Amino acid sequence: MFNKILNLIFPSQCPVCEADSDNRYTNPICSSCWQQIKKFNGSRCNICGLPVVSEFAALCAACIKEKPHFEKIYYYSSYTGVIKEAIHLMKFNGIRRLANPLAKLFDDMHLPQCDAVIPVPLHRIKLIAREFNQTAALAKHISKNTGARLVTSALIKTKLTQPQTALSGTDRRKNLKKAFAVCEDIRGLKILLVDDVITTGATVAECARVLKKAGASEVHIAALARSLPKN
Ligand SMILES: [Zn+2]
Ligand SMILES: [Zn+2]
Repeated sequence: MFNKILNLIFPSQCPVCEADSDNRYTNPICSSCWQQIKKFNGSRCNICGLPVVSEFAALCAACIKEKPHFEKIYYYSSYTGVIKEAIHLMKFNGIRRLANPLAKLFDDMHLPQCDAVIPVPLHRIKLIAREFNQTAALAKHISKNTGARLVTSALIKTKLTQPQTALSGTDRRKNLKKAFAVCEDIRGLKILLVDDVITTGATVAECARVLKKAGASEVHIAALARSLPKN
C-alpha cells in the first residue's frame, strides 16, 4: 500500500524491464529484476577470484606465478546485468539510495573479520564533481555490521588517473604509479579494502601494495561485483 502511494507521488519505471517500479527500497529497479542479482558460485581462484579451469584448482596461473599483495578478493556477483545497471544508477545517475540495498549484498558474503574497513578513495576533484563517494557508503555499512573501524582518511588518492579500462597493461601500471598514498598509522592492521566494482583488478592491487608497504599486516578486498571473462 505504502509503495503504491509512493509510486503515485513519484511515478517511476524500472530501467531494466520498463514495468512500474514496485519496490521502494530498490527503486527504480523493480522487485523481479532485483531478484535476478545472483551470487557468483563458480569455481574461482582463492586469491584473485577469477574463475579457474577446474574445481580442484585452488589458484589461477597468474597468482601462482606472482602472489599479489592482497590476501583475497571477495565479490558478490559477476559485473553484468541488473547489478551493473544498479551500480551505474548509483554512481553516475545520482541515485544514491541504491547504496543501501547494494551494501546489503555484503552481509551474505562471509567477509573476514578485520581491524579496519577502508574504502578505495576518489580523488578530491572527482569527489567534488560527484558529491558522493559510493564506496565510502558501502564501507560504512560493512563497518556497522562487522564492528571493524571505518577509516576513510588513511588512504588517499593523490593523482587524477585515466579510467583503467581504456588503457593497455603497461599504461595501466603507469597510470596508477604514485596514485595512492597512506597518511595515517596503519601498522599491524588487518584491513578490508572496499570497492564497488573490480574490473581489471589493478586499482585494488595497487592500493593493497601501498597499504602493505605502510605496514598493514593483511589486506582483504571486498567488492559488489567483478568483471569476469565471458566463456
Ligand atoms: Zn524490472
Ligand atoms: Zn588468481
